Amino acid sequence: MERDRRIAARLVEWFATSARDLPWRKADARSGRRDAYRSLVSEAMLQQTQVARVVEKFDGFIKQFPTVNRLADADEQSVLAAWSGLGYYRRAMNLHRAAKLIVEEFGGEVPREVGALRRLPGVGRYTAGAIASMVFGDAEPLVDGNVQRVLLRVEGREVKETERAREAWVWSRAEQLVKAAKNPGAMNEALMELGATVCVPGTPRCGECPLARLCIAKREGMQERIPKPAKSAAKRDVFHSVVVVRSRGRVLLEQRPPRGLWAKMWQAVTIERSDRPATRAEVVRSFALSDAIPRAAFDHLTSHRRVRFEVWDGRTSDFPSGRGVLVATNRIPALPMSNPQRRILASWPRLARFGGIGYDCRPACRYGPGGAR
Ligand code: SF4
Repeated sequence: MERDRRIAARLVEWFATSARDLPWRKADARSGRRDAYRSLVSEAMLQQTQVARVVEKFDGFIKQFPTVNRLADADEQSVLAAWSGLGYYRRAMNLHRAAKLIVEEFGGEVPREVGALRRLPGVGRYTAGAIASMVFGDAEPLVDGNVQRVLLRVEGREVKETERAREAWVWSRAEQLVKAAKNPGAMNEALMELGATVCVPGTPRCGECPLARLCIAKREGMQERIPKPAKSAAKRDVFHSVVVVRSRGRVLLEQRPPRGLWAKMWQAVTIERSDRPATRAEVVRSFALSDAIPRAAFDHLTSHRRVRFEVWDGRTSDFPSGRGVLVATNRIPALPMSNPQRRILASWPRLARFGGIGYDCRPACRYGPGGAR
């Protein structure tokens, strides 16, 4: 269809001059193609994490695990530690499992077909389409939030529909466009780039857009009404009472359970409740302390939860036993740890040596008054 060919051609042309210079976009000098393993890593990192944050972490991760074989051979704790600061650690575990599967079943080569790609842990329809098109040049569609917004606007689709119906429409439209493109990978990436940099949420920068003349939303003046805001799911409250107990240059830490939020991460010993924060008496009793002093409180939002952190300074003369292990402070930077836990230790007086090891303080994560009870 002529309209599809024009949209695809304009996107590819625009992308050639406007693409951001990102480390995972560099093509191999000999093959002229992107490295599939690097692309797999970058796609895993980019799910739910901002580009700027991924840019900071990508090269370090690749330096530590330069090939799929090296990643497959690594132990999970070192992979999780290298992932620290990116959040959503399940992605790191899936990436590690995917590397093992690639070595065991695909001879160490990232597969090309979408069906085979989707057998890899953590690889869904989007990531499979991204690798197949951007690495191997196949005409496979991809849809993320940016692509969805661009396509809904270009086609002026302002209809009330279920999320599932909307997704089905967008995937089908993305497929039509990628099949009309001479360079499917560049077209897909251009759609994402346009959504990230020009056709942004709220007020898009239509004056800079290569699709302005073809865009129905712009023509009808309804860009800002599309897409209709989705209802955000209610977040569940959980309460983490974190107790920092120190003894001669060491801190009492524990490893989280293998499943659930921040699975297998390390943390300062923590009491978790779903109904309310732990009281001072509960904190003291749980760790056989002589006293506990409230130090800070802040909220941390995840995709499904609002986690209320309350931080206690645990005082003891006899070191408590039974829960957690004493870890020397200089070993802590190498341990996989959630951002809020790392932040707590990084800002703790006299544990300042953790400063600069990197933690992500999102806007929703803020210190508030201590919750003394
Ligand atoms: S013209 Fe405006 S609304 Fe349409 S795709 Fe471009 S930036 Fe988005």
